[in-house]
Amino acid sequence: MPKLQRLRIDAFHAQKGRCCYCSFPMWNVSPDELKPFGLRAKTARPLRCTAEHLVAQQEGGKDVAGNIAAACWLCNTRRHKRKSPPSPEAYRAFVQKRLAKGKWHPPSVAQLRRR
Ligand SMILES: [Zn+2]
Repeated sequence: MPKLQRLRIDAFHAQKGRCCYCSFPMWNVSPDELKPFGLRAKTARPLRCTAEHLVAQQEGGKDVAGNIAAACWLCNTRRHKRKSPPSPEAYRAFVQKRLAKGKWHPPSVAQLRRR
């Protein structure tokens, strides 16, 4: 297994399968893993577990245990879409604020929050 994949799966388990930013459940191999949460495969797609570099790769962040967290695809891509990614702490606060307003996930995913 490639190193980054192993680090991601370790982080996934350490975080009990929850995204480090939005705290929503993620899936590893198949979106069907979120069926017990009442999500259809297509709806669950943005919640794929990805390896999040806490110090971004573009800033020299390496593939080492302390630098890899498990984040859903949606949170991960949105953080790194920015020119200068915010710190993990600042970004988590931002995501949580948006979540509280129901303005982060698509509505079909956001309904999970009520469970
Ligand atoms: Zn997330």
